[in-house]
Amino acid sequence: MTGLIILIIRLLKILYTSSINDTRLALNDFKEVLAESRSRNNKTGEKLTNNQKRKLKSEIDSLECFIRYYELSEKLLAQFRVISPELYNEIDSIKDKNGISTDVYIKFVSTELLSLGQNALTIMCQKGHSKSSCFSEYGKHTVSVIVAAGIKALWLLAHEFGHIMYQVPHLAEYNEYYIRSYMQKSFRSNFIGHNDKDMSGEIAINFGRRYFQDYKKYRKSIKDGNKAPIASAK
Ligand SMILES: [Zn+2]
Repeated sequence: MTGLIILIIRLLKILYTSSINDTRLALNDFKEVLAESRSRNNKTGEKLTNNQKRKLKSEIDSLECFIRYYELSEKLLAQFRVISPELYNEIDSIKDKNGISTDVYIKFVSTELLSLGQNALTIMCQKGHSKSSCFSEYGKHTVSVIVAAGIKALWLLAHEFGHIMYQVPHLAEYNEYYIRSYMQKSFRSNFIGHNDKDMSGEIAINFGRRYFQDYKKYRKSIKDGNKAPIASAK
């Protein structure tokens, strides 16, 4: 069943895959099977062992968690678009060096899922003949971003967008720069990508600032002035 558990939010074009629907269907099926096995009027006559029930319950819990974070990701992305439409649109129209559109996939996850001290992660690699084309676990011409759904989630997303904004059109050169500047040396992990000559780091910081300015304007523009970004799953 884990094949169904693919959390994908396709940014901006918001082309959700069928996986979320499959997940919801699977959840309903699992709940029905569990309820049936516990029912005194068990129509199928099939009984689950206690161990099978435990496993089924655990699957149900993980599917519910998946759906919660999927829905949270959807809300956070929508909120980012309201607060900072320009940053959103810049990433929406990003192209690689060859002029090919690159899709950015975002997911917000529980803070425990990222390594200790890490709040966000962007994945983009080179593949094939073209050293200028990105790929991630979502395929060719894609970038993947994972952000901890904490209090600074949207600011972190803006920061990662800044890295992406520079790296996608400069993938080959940046990859060489990265190896030269950071590999074979030991740095604190939060320094990597941020030495004083790293354009990717510079734009990331700039995107963070721009988001913060947009957020201040957003706060000012709403009447009650108390709506903070959603930052946790219920
Ligand atoms: Zn950074």
